Amino acid sequence: MTRRRWIAENWDEATATLVGAQAEHLIRVLRAQQGEEADVVAGGKVFHSVIASITNGGQGEAPEVRFNLVAEVESEPGMPVTLVMSIFKFDHMEWAIEKATELGAAAIVPVIARRTEKHLALAATKRVERWRRIVHEAAQQSRRSDVPMVHDPVKLADRVKADAKLKRIVLAEQERSATLRGALEEAIAAAGAEMPDLEIAIGPEGGWAPDEEALFDANGWRAVSLGPRILRAETAAIAALAVVASMLE
Ligand code: SAM
Repeated sequence: MTRRRWIAENWDEATATLVGAQAEHLIRVLRAQQGEEADVVAGGKVFHSVIASITNGGQGEAPEVRFNLVAEVESEPGMPVTLVMSIFKFDHMEWAIEKATELGAAAIVPVIARRTEKHLALAATKRVERWRRIVHEAAQQSRRSDVPMVHDPVKLADRVKADAKLKRIVLAEQERSATLRGALEEAIAAAGAEMPDLEIAIGPEGGWAPDEEALFDANGWRAVSLGPRILRAETAAIAALAVVASMLE
């Protein structure tokens, strides 16, 4: 029987604690009992744990479930891949954020591209906390030992020009010759015994504007194709991460 997995908000070398909504859910819905076992993620590691104490909350006390960490267990960290995701229709984007977490993305950087719809760009900053909840739940569900970082939204140009040691790849629907597979083979070869640190950029529904394609090129990003068909942005994110996982994991 697979033990439930929780990602702790606070921890030290011997204990870990759930607070807030997670603690509420565990106490009220799952009726947690002292002595119950679970896997708890603390500090990027997963521990077989036992509930040591439960604080129900109320009378000004916050609900809290404290676990004793018994033993570290095998865990599945994410892949060293940052997704630079142009902001697009929130429901589709949130689906893509959840799938990207399941597929092992280490971080998501929401960017405002030229063809990002204005009202979405304006609303994005208010949506980030929801995106962070989505990755937290998806990381828990997919039994990851880490939770992807969701950055605050930035302008595409700021991210493209940022100095980075990563191998930076832009999914370009106009590209016909270079493939993602080819770019990954080069990155893996260059990284030697290490895992290559990758950054993959995905455009909005309207695609990249010509000046954005030129900016990527001027800043050393490698334009690659995912094949002859035009994919939705969310499909491109999944497809790219699946190709990366097939070569890195
Ligand atoms: N402007 C495109 C068109 O011709 O309709 C649509 C852009 S597509 C919906 C959104 C993003 O997904 C693209 O900017 C690109 O990053 C990625 N993408 C979609 N299909 C792709 C492909 N075949 N190769 C590489 N990237 C692709």
